[in-house]
Amino acid sequence: MNERVFNFSPGPATLPLPVLQEAQQNLLALPGAGASILEISHRSKTFEQIIAQAEHNIRQLLRLPQEYHVLFLQGGASLQFSQVPMSFLHAPGRYAEYLVTGSWAKRALAEAQREGDVRVVWDGKSDNYRRVPKPGEYETTPGAAYVHFTSNETIQGVQFPSEPEAGRVPLVCDASSDFLSRPIDVRRYGLIYAGAQKNVGPAGVTIVIIRQDLLEQVTDDLPTMLNYKVHVEHRSLYNTPPVFAVYIVLLVTRWLLENIGGLEQMYAINRQKAQMLYDAIDRSEGFYRAHAQPDSRSLMNVTWRLPNEELEAEFVKQAKEAGLHELKGHRSVGGIRASIYNAMPVEGVRALVQFMQHFHQKHA
Ligand SMILES: *Cc1c(COP(=O)(O)O)cnc(C)c1O
Repeated sequence: MNERVFNFSPGPATLPLPVLQEAQQNLLALPGAGASILEISHRSKTFEQIIAQAEHNIRQLLRLPQEYHVLFLQGGASLQFSQVPMSFLHAPGRYAEYLVTGSWAKRALAEAQREGDVRVVWDGKSDNYRRVPKPGEYETTPGAAYVHFTSNETIQGVQFPSEPEAGRVPLVCDASSDFLSRPIDVRRYGLIYAGAQKNVGPAGVTIVIIRQDLLEQVTDDLPTMLNYKVHVEHRSLYNTPPVFAVYIVLLVTRWLLENIGGLEQMYAINRQKAQMLYDAIDRSEGFYRAHAQPDSRSLMNVTWRLPNEELEAEFVKQAKEAGLHELKGHRSVGGIRASIYNAMPVEGVRALVQFMQHFHQKHA
């Protein structure tokens, strides 16, 4: 096997090794099918079982009640930025409320504003998107069609510790970078969407979970491919779905259930990994400075600065030489970003912490 590094890429991101090994082993012929997942019809029994099992695993992991539908769509989370408001805001008198916590929430907001009446109820700009709002810091109204939030801001590294308050209004969540990383209070959600390539698979498939009462509100004046009702009716097989990506989601969700033991266990491991990094930052006496405020710190994307940009560049370069890749922060925040999604092993984080300590000693 080629030598694998510890890959801290924000996305597409590291996948569990057993998943890659199984995909490799079955690439030429799926057991019982005599052909590759890349070569068989999406209407074959084999693929129908794959997509049904992937859905079943997601239902089991999230303990989804019956009234939620699971869809495998294309276009990324970025298309959901539009498809959500198109579906719910085109009728007169409809409006939605958005919590703006960082770069991705801003993108979601900008697309929604093209589609309908959208109100910003909280914006973290004045704090440079270092935190998410606390309960009571913003107000939503009972008449809103939905309240949109971004559970984890991949670029800034801030994450909601739990679902935001929205009264009885359904939450709509962009969960692209923390989907299936922890248990959620699922009944609070009307719709959840997540591009797979951060935490649950390869690029090419977007998972959408939509509750029946929201599905019934979807307007029909949309292109067929943008109508959630069509995809629910056809069980994500209205047209050819991204078959390989769905197959990998099946393997990742099976790994979560069988190797990890479910989302409680995954959450405990994710907390442990993040704690190791934040401890290393906090104990560095100011050499490393976390971007996010303590009560909003992401368990998925840990962002921090060094005393100057030269040291940051040197950090990234030397880390790479030590087998720790993709640590450069996003250009809009600068500094360092370590993406430590589900599939990043504890050993990878341990190696990074050791590197941080050595680097600090050398450059203090
Ligand atoms: C990566 C990301 C997106 C964009 O996903 P695409 O699949 O590239 O459209 C949206 N939201 C969040 C939170 C992300 O991390």
